[in-house]
Amino acid sequence: MSVAALDTHPVPSCVHGIHALLDTVPTAAWDGLDPAEVRRLLAEIGRAEARLSAHKMAAARVLEKARKAAANGDGPRPGTGTSTGATISIDFGGDRSGADALVSTAERIEAQTTLIENALAAGVISSKQADLISRVLAKLPDDVTPEQRERCEETLLKDAQRLTLKDLRLRGARITEAYKKTTHDVDADEDEILRRREEEARKKTSFSMWDNNDGTVTGRFTLPEAQGAMLKTALDALAAPHQKVGTVNAATGEHDEVGFGQSYPQRLGHAFATLVEHLPADQLPTNGGVSAVVTVNLDLDTLMGGLKAAGLSDGTRISASEARRLACTAKIAPFVLDGKSLPLDFGTSNRYFDAASRRALEKRDMGCTAPGCDRDARWCEAHHMHPYSITGRTDIRDGALLCSFHHHRAHDQDWSGRIADDGHVEWKLPGSDTWRRNTRWRP
Ligand SMILES: [Zn+2]
Ligand SMILES: [Zn+2]
Repeated sequence: MSVAALDTHPVPSCVHGIHALLDTVPTAAWDGLDPAEVRRLLAEIGRAEARLSAHKMAAARVLEKARKAAANGDGPRPGTGTSTGATISIDFGGDRSGADALVSTAERIEAQTTLIENALAAGVISSKQADLISRVLAKLPDDVTPEQRERCEETLLKDAQRLTLKDLRLRGARITEAYKKTTHDVDADEDEILRRREEEARKKTSFSMWDNNDGTVTGRFTLPEAQGAMLKTALDALAAPHQKVGTVNAATGEHDEVGFGQSYPQRLGHAFATLVEHLPADQLPTNGGVSAVVTVNLDLDTLMGGLKAAGLSDGTRISASEARRLACTAKIAPFVLDGKSLPLDFGTSNRYFDAASRRALEKRDMGCTAPGCDRDARWCEAHHMHPYSITGRTDIRDGALLCSFHHHRAHDQDWSGRIADDGHVEWKLPGSDTWRRNTRWRP
């Protein structure tokens, strides 16, 4: 292997020259420049970065080739790492996965493309665009000719200069348009690409969660894109902040601002909890004869307002007020005990608001009945204003719709509620002697 003399080689002097030039400009020098000029220069820096990344890839390829040669017993090893990516990340930055990606992108660009390397080296496209285009070309059908491949590359290169990265990816999925005649062929190719992607996604799908032993669980999951989008849409809808509502936090004395004081991840977390409580557990498959419905086991005394803690069927302990709130919802069956853990009642269906009475409640209340709240009926829970008698039938004159947030408040703060003569739900909130109603749904 021949190695060029360092003092005459253009690469070291170029790299040293870049450093020397940057040394002359402190970052504070940007202050005082005209914003329009800053914007133009920022784009220029982006181009310079793209050009540098072309050189990084070329360098990475040289190291990778040297490593492979050394592995065949031919020449010295280029570094101390177990792979070229490891060597590069040891030398600077410590980003092993980033360095591995650099090596694989560099090799893919060399193997799959003819124009991309020069476009990147000239600062015409960014390294992310180059990476994406090389991935698209790598996935072209096996029967593509060299001319057709070139047409695809030219088209993508042109598109890269006007499309966002996301749109370029969508364009890439239909790139065989560049040479196939019929839309049907292109559709079939795109379908094949999507089908393979989905199959890959299903293989990667996983879910795990663990107990933090502090009253919370933490989890992580990987979902196919489509189901991820469904989850995100549902959570976003549920996580939208409420406007300032008329209820008061008894502990701080401040008006509730549902969602406003919380970060976006916190709001999504509460939305996820609400979503879980709304799962149709009674319609899920049974697990070897064991129902998927979690039951709340609580003493009659607790149901009627006592303080004794309760439990879920899996052993999780919950507070008395949380047990009463859960017992209100039709998705979770209360299992009422007599104080000596003997069942008094199996939570027969007439304990809950059945589908018909739930519809009647929705028609009457139209949304959360807490003063000022703006959650509509779909995401409300049916609350029993009076702990219902163990034998009595559930009556909608005892029910009121509350959103998850206010349902928690109602149980935590022991709200008193009633139905006024005109059928409107009214609440006496903590610290107040007047009955108040939500006039948002019915004036
Ligand atoms: Zn309730
Ligand atoms: Zn509410």
